[in-house]
Amino acid sequence: MAKTFKNFIGGAWVAPTTGEYYENRNPADWNDLVGRFPRSGPKDVDRAVRSALGAFEQWRRVPAPVRGDVLRHVGDVLTARKEEIARAMTREMGKVLAETRGDVQEGIDTAYYAAGEGRRLFGHTVPSELRDKWAMSYRRPIGVAGIITPFNFPMAIPTWKIFPALLCGNAVVFKPSADVPHTGTLLVECLLEAGLPPEVIQLVHGGGGAVGNAIVNHPRVPLISFTGSTETGAKLGETCGRMHKRLSLEMGGKNAMIVMDDADLDLALDGVLWGAFGTTGQRCTATSRLLLHRKVHDRFLRMLVDRVEKLRLGSGLDATTEVGPMINQAALENTQSYVDVALGEGDDLLCGGRRAGGARLSKGWFYKPTVFAGVKPGNRLEQEEVFGPVLAVVRINSLDQAIRVNNDVKYGLSSSLYTRDVNGSFRAAQDIDAGITYINAPTIGAEAHLPFGGVKETGNGHREGGWEVYEFYSETKVVYVDYSGTLQRAQIDTYD
Ligand code: NAD
Repeated sequence: MAKTFKNFIGGAWVAPTTGEYYENRNPADWNDLVGRFPRSGPKDVDRAVRSALGAFEQWRRVPAPVRGDVLRHVGDVLTARKEEIARAMTREMGKVLAETRGDVQEGIDTAYYAAGEGRRLFGHTVPSELRDKWAMSYRRPIGVAGIITPFNFPMAIPTWKIFPALLCGNAVVFKPSADVPHTGTLLVECLLEAGLPPEVIQLVHGGGGAVGNAIVNHPRVPLISFTGSTETGAKLGETCGRMHKRLSLEMGGKNAMIVMDDADLDLALDGVLWGAFGTTGQRCTATSRLLLHRKVHDRFLRMLVDRVEKLRLGSGLDATTEVGPMINQAALENTQSYVDVALGEGDDLLCGGRRAGGARLSKGWFYKPTVFAGVKPGNRLEQEEVFGPVLAVVRINSLDQAIRVNNDVKYGLSSSLYTRDVNGSFRAAQDIDAGITYINAPTIGAEAHLPFGGVKETGNGHREGGWEVYEFYSETKVVYVDYSGTLQRAQIDTYD
């Protein structure tokens, strides 16, 4: 019989106050029940926040290098449990094992980076304008951080948020996506195994409307970090604005790969397959538009469709599978509705465009990798995030036009250009409106020590990863020490 899982609140694994649970099933085979998980409510959130507040008072006083040591141990535990976690992740959300192993590895890299950051967290010491006076700044923790995450990177994204939050001395209330509660549970297990004081981390399972919303509205949670859709992010923005909370938003994308006429086409082909159909197109950085130079347009499309039609769908646990299932029925139906819109707008369907059938795939949410050509800039398929295995191909005549088309969407996360022209590649890096530009690589592959995030409606100006995220999870405080023994008035007692 499948296991019934619990929340982690107040330093213990506990049942939800609602007494309610939901079933989490394998999207590649819905007969496979991963487990029953709490459908928690606002009371569980309130208990978690109160417990975290108590723990915060202790944890904030632990020296940052010592907090870093805990995170180093977390990296060690994740390393030891990498294969087990990757398998559990593939089972509950579908992407292939190579990708879920990469997802855990990103958590490991983030842990070790955070460990080092415990010995930096730099402030500044600057000269004062007055005699016998020191002026300096340092970074202090903020309080309880509410962490709300999506389903597609169930380990990497929570670690991008939770590890820097902890390193800076905050306590955490974590709500993973209701589609990936098992991976969230395993992450909390690893934190505890590594020696994190238990009440510093709280795990509350459940839906966005009940649990996520209660975290965002809780008056004792001053700090919210969210990754998910732009629509949900906008709602959070309204609440956090009204309540004066610090908010980091990482949201949708409509990323384009530009392939110029001088590109290495074989390289670009491997890139677009990985960018568009990896994670079954369910990545914020997915290549969902291909801007193809007219001189290579027809040839490249023939090469592309030939490869797309051969992609092998199946369970991500099967070593021969290249594309796993979608996360759930709603995601599959949403993808189908975009295909119908594209057909209605006159886009040219080259392959896919429907649910994948056959006995082997009949009990999962499998959708055929889909390519539309002849898509006009401004069409809905060219403008809106699908979050599924659908690629829109637009014919372009020049790099200038490609950059214009690239930029003419409301999102700006990742971008890519395949060319051998060094001048063109630097111009694209300069003029493309996005948080990330890849040259001769697809729109994927964040490295843990570099800032990650997007412009326009993809984000709200913050970055995850690298050194920048530590600014989000800490507050600058300035300290002046006047040892002159007299009253010195800044801007008044000057030395002229
Ligand atoms: P989602 O917005 O449906 O859910 C994200 C999280 O928010 C979940 O934990 C959900 O339960 C919670 N939530 C939902 N409604 C809420 C509410 N009213 N208040 C508080 N929390 C609420 O997104 P999803 O379907 O899980 O993920 C797909 C989306 O995430 C895509 O748009 C994708 O582009 C985006 N994404 C962005 C990045 C990035 O770094 N920019 C990374 C991954 C995914």
